[in-house]
Amino acid sequence: MPAKEYKNGRVADNREQIEHHIREILRLIGEDVDREGLLDTPARVTRMYEEIFAGYDADTREILGVAFDEKHEELVIVKDIVYYSQCEHHMAPFFGKVHIGYIPSGKIAGLSKFARLVEAVTRRLQVQERITSEIADIIVDVLEPHGCMVVVEGEHLCMCARGVKKPGSKTVTSAVRGLFRTDAPARAEFLALIKD
Ligand SMILES: [Zn+2]
Repeated sequence: MPAKEYKNGRVADNREQIEHHIREILRLIGEDVDREGLLDTPARVTRMYEEIFAGYDADTREILGVAFDEKHEELVIVKDIVYYSQCEHHMAPFFGKVHIGYIPSGKIAGLSKFARLVEAVTRRLQVQERITSEIADIIVDVLEPHGCMVVVEGEHLCMCARGVKKPGSKTVTSAVRGLFRTDAPARAEFLALIKD
């Protein structure tokens, strides 16, 4: 995805205000906002927000949109799609991998489209459960497959750095749609194929 066009336009439009508020937060936590190391921090954080919140400007249904008819009606898996998101409860990063499986019923999407979809859904304030179900629901809406299954693995820095402090622990969420709900062998095939 070209980084240039994939940015949050509102962050750019409100750059001065965002920088001001970040500087205020630094001051309020007890920092010397005029020390050298922090002088450019508000501007850097704001530029980072343009990227990590770029998903708000994406039309998630458009991304898979160019689907074409195919005879293939067997399981298609796109696995190990790396994502990086921000937990909406703490505004702390969480990241991991998305695995997608679907059984087409005539429409398929280019494999790179799924990576773009994952970026669009994850570059926002999110919770892992919603990422999982949103990706599944968009695929079901656009491609109308016989079935779709999405598994998301995530490591949450808000869990590692505060509270329970369990570094390295992973959260796994799944969404199951269509025939995967009733077809245990299809579910098992998907789960076996996404294992490393
Ligand atoms: Zn959190």
